[in-house]
Amino acid sequence: MTAPIAFDNSYARLPARFHARLAPTPVERPRLIRLNRALARDLGLDPDWLASPDGVAALAGNRVIEGSEPLAAAYAGHQFGNFVPQLGDGRAILLGEVIGRDGRRDIQLKGSGPTPFSRHADGRAALGPVLREYLVSEAMAALGIPTTRALAAVSTGEHVARERFLPGAVLTRVAASHIRVGTFQFFAARSDVEGLRTLADHVLARHDPEAARAEKPYRALLAGVVARQAELVARWLLVGFVHGVMNTDNMSVAGETIDYGPCAFLDTYDPRTAFSSIDQHGRYAYGNQPRIALWNLARLAETLLPLLSADEGEAVAEAESVLEGFGARFEAAYHGGLGRKIGLSGLREDLREDDAALAGDLLKRMAENQADFTLTFRNLCAAAERPEADGAVRDLFVDPTAYDDWAARWRERLGKEQRDGTETARAMRAVNPAFIPRNHRVEEMIEAAVEREDFAPFERMLAVLARPYDDQPEEAAYAEPPADRGIGYRTFCGT
Ligand code: AMP
Ligand code: MG
Repeated sequence: MTAPIAFDNSYARLPARFHARLAPTPVERPRLIRLNRALARDLGLDPDWLASPDGVAALAGNRVIEGSEPLAAAYAGHQFGNFVPQLGDGRAILLGEVIGRDGRRDIQLKGSGPTPFSRHADGRAALGPVLREYLVSEAMAALGIPTTRALAAVSTGEHVARERFLPGAVLTRVAASHIRVGTFQFFAARSDVEGLRTLADHVLARHDPEAARAEKPYRALLAGVVARQAELVARWLLVGFVHGVMNTDNMSVAGETIDYGPCAFLDTYDPRTAFSSIDQHGRYAYGNQPRIALWNLARLAETLLPLLSADEGEAVAEAESVLEGFGARFEAAYHGGLGRKIGLSGLREDLREDDAALAGDLLKRMAENQADFTLTFRNLCAAAERPEADGAVRDLFVDPTAYDDWAARWRERLGKEQRDGTETARAMRAVNPAFIPRNHRVEEMIEAAVEREDFAPFERMLAVLARPYDDQPEEAAYAEPPADRGIGYRTFCGT
């Protein structure tokens, strides 16, 4: 019989100090909660096998299948600005890599038991955060935003001790890689230049084969990560996503959204919003995310200095010149995206600055009037087609006239576009989601699953969020903001 999964493990072939090899710790009573069959097929895996008792045993960590070389990866990281020289996979185990439709992908279990990097924690995950990560990462994928994916969720039949005892679960996560800014920091902190070079070469081969052939490959490596992060953070802002813990160990060099913990989406638009209960000073607030991304990238650049040039001054100059590119890249992605959200194609280069000001003015008015971020833009789509639809936008503003003033200028600007209202509205609906994982719905979903073993809300939300840009009138309730506009909502890290 051939092996059920054709692993090809490049990370396991890296030197021993990159990881600790160990198998997941078995759990008592594994039960499959959900399998992402479409993703399984994209990865070239057999969904029926994964759903079989042998498959579920593998997804629970109860059985190591042929070709898997399980390991916990070593990494370091800045947590809320403080450097920790050793973090590592404390509750995750990489089973191996597969080559799927979109290339090489890591298959990793999260919540699979303690590792040498667990410190004093249990290596486990509670069901609630597993379902949150499953749902939100799949919602991000459906929104078209680079992200790790969720292949499966399995309940363990065991309890994990948090503030109280909670049902445990294991998430199977899929990523282009799990290499983080913190992975580079791990080697830099040990002055292990050989390790750094090996890691950099691995990342180049894996994520930037083009850059590997560049005249200055390590400079190109940094430029690639900078570009991907600039795009990614712009995409986050454009859908109102707050990651919540943008520590350097939670920033992927592949440019995917990774490590969904206390993340949440804005209801009311306020750039100062920080949901995470541990983020007391708002370091990782919505509007700070571009700045923090750049700060993290500067930490990555520091680790690469010995590879950039033998001459330190020259290395610093190289790093700085690459980091300088972040701003323009981010601005272009963000302002281009904002323009599209208000129906501007971006073809009128001469108007770009005015367009950015127009979009910025809308955001300012939204913030002053506690307007719902997602609904404002979604309802604006119909208004582009029919001014009679203005009511559904202006009603979202505490002072509706704040919208009227803006709308008059917006219509004037739309008149300079090449397309008609119907085309504009169609283009806007393709970038302004009707459905995001609303925080109050996520909480309801988790409560139903954890308190009543009722997974129907989870399934239903997954189905709605798989088509975020479609109206789905029968599911309109999932598009609604909470009665309190979501002000004061808090998330907990859920480790
Ligand atoms: P995070 O902020 O969730 O990305 O996690 C930071 C570090 O803590 C990582 O090294 C994790 O592997 C580790 N960690 C988080 N939760 C646990 C847990 N329950 N058991 C062991 N390690 C954990
Ligand atoms: Mg993490």
